[in-house]
Amino acid sequence: MISRFAQGLGRILGRSGPPQDEGEGGSISAWLRVACLAALAMFVTVPIDAASIRGVEIVGDSITLRFDGPVERASVFTLDGPRRIAIDIVGAHAGSGGKAGGYVAAVRQAQFNPDTARVVLDLNGPALVRNGGFSTDGRSLVIEVAGATEAAFARSIDAKRKAFLPPVAVRAAAPKRADRSAVRVPLERAGSSNGPPLPPVTGAKGTGRPLVVIDAGHGGHDPGSMATDGRKEKDAALAIALAIRDALVDSGRVKVAMTRDRDRFLVLGERREIARRLGADLFISVHADSAPNSAARGATIYTLSEVASDRVAAAVAARENRADVLNGVNLGGENEDVSSILFDLAQRETMNISADFATLLQREMAAKVPFKNEYHRFAGLIVLKAPDVPSVLLETGYISNEEDAKLLFSKSYQRDVAEGVRRAIELHFARRLASN
Ligand code: ZN
Repeated sequence: MISRFAQGLGRILGRSGPPQDEGEGGSISAWLRVACLAALAMFVTVPIDAASIRGVEIVGDSITLRFDGPVERASVFTLDGPRRIAIDIVGAHAGSGGKAGGYVAAVRQAQFNPDTARVVLDLNGPALVRNGGFSTDGRSLVIEVAGATEAAFARSIDAKRKAFLPPVAVRAAAPKRADRSAVRVPLERAGSSNGPPLPPVTGAKGTGRPLVVIDAGHGGHDPGSMATDGRKEKDAALAIALAIRDALVDSGRVKVAMTRDRDRFLVLGERREIARRLGADLFISVHADSAPNSAARGATIYTLSEVASDRVAAAVAARENRADVLNGVNLGGENEDVSSILFDLAQRETMNISADFATLLQREMAAKVPFKNEYHRFAGLIVLKAPDVPSVLLETGYISNEEDAKLLFSKSYQRDVAEGVRRAIELHFARRLASN
């Protein structure tokens, strides 16, 4: 049920005001608050004499936005499920609508926050922005779109926004705005010690015991995929993650920490950073898969690679990586193209250990847990990108399949998964100890 969540995002995309708390019971984690503020800090101006969007015209592949005064800047990005191109204009008030044409099935406008108008173009096929720019008087922004392959469109979801600035003279003439720097909250730097509080470590006592971080996927406003009866991936993931923790604690051979032990939202990078800051020796992210084909069943293990092993893996990466996007704002700040990251030697070593663990994990789980034939896949999953912590993402079955969904929510299957994971973890560390 990829699209249900995505459509939910779509519905709230055009809502005015800053990103709202979609979390349960109105409780929003401090981290999400910081992330939201940091995202908002991109828009640090207050409109005094903001320009208005006077019209959106589409002629062929060319989309023209007209303003009745100078605006500050614009940026363009793509969203999936349904496919959209969004244009944020800082220093502008939203107008209303616009006439569809070409690749654009519908035009919507809304005030994204007090400073920023958002124009959303609903696409009738995969299309991408190829080019664009402001006119010399700064009163119009022209954007050229062109048809794209499904794969290229999917890749664009995680790409950086394309930014457009009006000519310098026009910007200088734009009305001065008050600085709202009080809300500037810098995002935590990777590896810094002053992040959100770290979760408690349980399990084996004493020094020298390896630490495993168990990550229950999704949570809070992000339900993940959904079963036909409405049950949510985030709940299955949490129940299975807790079962794994309990199995490891009972066995007492390793230390354990959870990225979340209740229904709350964490951005993907934060999950990974918890493992890094704790100095974890292994990171396991627990999820449940979904597919348009309701007959698809079985578990899969993902490890990180520069390129996805196949289209299914690429689609899973796109879906799981989208967890960071709320109201069209990338809370995780993970804009870089995964494929363009330079994987250094340390990361390659980590990737090899992760892949070895994936093999062991399948072997130890397989007696009780049905796997897909191609059980080990590779993809550019944000949550797995710690360069120094071997990491796997375990799709424990298809929540979109009725039989698998029954298993995922059953205590006995959760225990079977947990026992298999525990055995694999303990063997993994025993092997590493022996080889050192
Ligand atoms: Zn998931």
